Amino acid sequence: MVFNRDPLGIASSVCVYILLLFGDYAIVYHVLEYGQHEGLGRSFGALLSHCLFAMSIVCHLRASLTDPGYVPLSKTKIDFSSDLEKTESGQKKKKKREPPPIGEWTVCHRCEIYRPPRSHHCRKCGRCVRRMDHHCPWINNCVGELNLKYFFLFVMYSGFLCLYAAVLITVEWLWNREESAQDSTTDKYIHSHDCHVVVV
Ligand SMILES: [Zn+2]
Ligand SMILES: [Zn+2]
Repeated sequence: MVFNRDPLGIASSVCVYILLLFGDYAIVYHVLEYGQHEGLGRSFGALLSHCLFAMSIVCHLRASLTDPGYVPLSKTKIDFSSDLEKTESGQKKKKKREPPPIGEWTVCHRCEIYRPPRSHHCRKCGRCVRRMDHHCPWINNCVGELNLKYFFLFVMYSGFLCLYAAVLITVEWLWNREESAQDSTTDKYIHSHDCHVVVV
């Protein structure tokens, strides 16, 4: 388990939880409660919303707290003295390195370790991560080899929750528009009928 103590990352994660909670609350207590759904339909709608919310939170927690695939640090540091060349003034300067061939292990000068292919150093985490995709502030962690699956699932479930809310709101809006149109037609008919009765 890992936990990054980055204040911005922690605040972003809390924002994600608040937004997800608000989305679930709005669907259940506003869209479904005051909509046209009744009985079993409303219960099923609320259950689906709660499930998507719960799965989003679980996947977010797994993506945040799972080791993304940090390359282990070595107790023995690498000697980089051969990488330094003396300039004319006597100062040591880093040699320009050729990019490594694809599939070869590389060296991280910050961690002072050899790292496997497709590993990259994350400045936020201060570590090298295997198959690093990016550092995500919304999960306060790197997305790498070991937590990519949870990150993808988190994005998928939270996306479904948004889509579900959008579909429900659209259906409610269309339904209410049709109902109000029908009501206004009925009112007009009643009004004209009343007038006719008064005239007769
Ligand atoms: Zn590194
Ligand atoms: Zn990172």
